[in-house]
Amino acid sequence: YVKLDSSLRSPVCCVLGHVDAGKTSILDRIRRSRVAAGEAGGITQQIAATLVSIEDIAAETVSINRSHNFTLKIPGILVIDTPGHESFSNLRTRGSTLCDVAILVVDIHSGLQMQTIESIKLLQSKRAPFVIALNKVDRVYGWKSVTNSPFKDSLKVQTEEVVQEFEKKMEAVIAELAMQQVNAVPYYKNKDFRKCPAIVPTSAVTGEGIPDLLLLLPLLSQKFLSDRITKRDAVECNVLEVKVQDGVGSTLDVLLLNGSLNRGDKIMLCTLNGAVTTKIQTILESSNMKSASGVQRIEGAIGARLICKGAEKTLAGTELHVIGPKTNEVELKKKVEAELETATSYLSSGSNGGVHVQASSLGSLEALLDFLKASDIPVGSIGIGDPNKKDVMKSSNGYKCMLLFDVHISNPLRKMAEDSGVTIIAADVIYHLCDEFRRLMRTRQM
Ligand code: GDP
Ligand code: MG
Repeated sequence: YVKLDSSLRSPVCCVLGHVDAGKTSILDRIRRSRVAAGEAGGITQQIAATLVSIEDIAAETVSINRSHNFTLKIPGILVIDTPGHESFSNLRTRGSTLCDVAILVVDIHSGLQMQTIESIKLLQSKRAPFVIALNKVDRVYGWKSVTNSPFKDSLKVQTEEVVQEFEKKMEAVIAELAMQQVNAVPYYKNKDFRKCPAIVPTSAVTGEGIPDLLLLLPLLSQKFLSDRITKRDAVECNVLEVKVQDGVGSTLDVLLLNGSLNRGDKIMLCTLNGAVTTKIQTILESSNMKSASGVQRIEGAIGARLICKGAEKTLAGTELHVIGPKTNEVELKKKVEAELETATSYLSSGSNGGVHVQASSLGSLEALLDFLKASDIPVGSIGIGDPNKKDVMKSSNGYKCMLLFDVHISNPLRKMAEDSGVTIIAADVIYHLCDEFRRLMRTRQM
C-alpha cells in the first residue's frame, strides 16, 4: 500500500489532552517499533521529535488497510513529544505553527476535562485537523481484549452488554464534544472528515485501535494537508529542547520541517543573551544515535539532535537560522533579537507589583503569560529556564511569589526565597499554578 510521493514531507503530529488521559502511552504505542528497535536505554536517548516511517506504518496497518485500500504517499509521521510540557505549550511553539495534525486523547471513562477543552480551543483556532482517540476502552466493564487489533475486530468479539456499555460511554463523550462545537463521529461511520473529527476508540495498553489511528493520520494528512506538507527548499527549523549533556556539551533537539542542515553549517540562535552565531558540530539522527560522529546531512521533515558550542542558553521554542553566503547577518540578528523582545513585551511597563513567572521555554512562558492575563493575575517579572539568584531577588518585590512552570529550583535557592519571604508555587500544569496562586492570595488576606 506504499507509493511514496517525493514532493511530500512527513506531517508533524502532536498529542494533546488532559493529564492521565494516556497521551504518553499512545505516543509510545505509535513509535513502538522505533523504541523497541533500540537497546534498553533507547527511550532516554529519544529525541523530542521521532519519525515513524511509512514502512512501519504500512506494516502495522496491513490488516485494516485490506478493507480501505488506501495508498500511503507520505514518508512517515513525525510525532512530537516534549516531556513535562503539558497540553498547549506543545502547540504554541514560536515561528511556524509546528503541528500539522493532532491526536486529541480523551479518557472514555472521564469524558472531557479541563485540558481537553483547552486543547480543543487551540485546535479550533489553529484549524488543525485532528482525530479523537477515545482511550482506555479495555477498561469498559467485561471488555475482552484482542491485542493490537483494529477496533472493529475487537468490537466483534464483545458481548451485547459490553457493546451497549461502550456505546453509552461513547455517546456521552460525543454529547460533551458537541457542546464544544465538535461534531465528532466514530471514524467507521464518518462521511466527512473535514467537517466531523473522527473518533477512534483505542487502548494504549492492549494496542486495540492503534492500527486505525495509524491509518487515519496519513489519510487526513494526504487528503487535507497536501499543500501544507509539500516540501520547500528554505530551511525551517525549530528548537524543541535544549540540554547540556555530560562530556558532550550543549545539545539542541530540533525539528527540521523544511530544507536541509549540514555538519559545519553556520547558524544563528536566539538565546537568553541575545543572538548567538555558532556552527553545527555534529548531527545525530534518531535512527543513528549510537554513532558519535553522527550524519553529514539531514533533510526535512525530521527530528535531530545537534551538538553546537555556546548553545546552552538557547530558548526552546525559537527558530534556528542557517547563515548562508547571501544572508544579511545584521538583519537576521535584528530579527532574532526582536523574537526575544516579544516575550518580554508582555510585561506592562512599570508594573513591578505582580508575581514572578518562570517557565522552561519561550513557548511555555508565552502560554503561561496568556493564561495569567486571562485570569487577571498581574505579572511583575519573568525568567526562562531554571531560576537563579537574580530571579529569586526579583521575586522579593511585589507579590513575593514565584510561579514556576516545568522548571527546577535548587535547595539553596529555595532556602533563600524562604528567608526573604517569597512563596514558591511550582507545577507542571498551568491550571494548578493559577489555583495554587489564588489559594495563596486567599490565605494572605485572612
Ligand atoms: P498522560 O498523562 O496523558 O501522558 O497519560 P499516561 O500515558 O501517562 O497514562 C496515564 C495512566 O493511564 C498510566 O497509568 C497508564 O498506564 C494508563 N493508561 C493509559 N492508556 C491506557 C489504556 O488505554 N488503558 C488502560 N487500562 N490504562 C491506560
Ligand atoms: Mg504524559
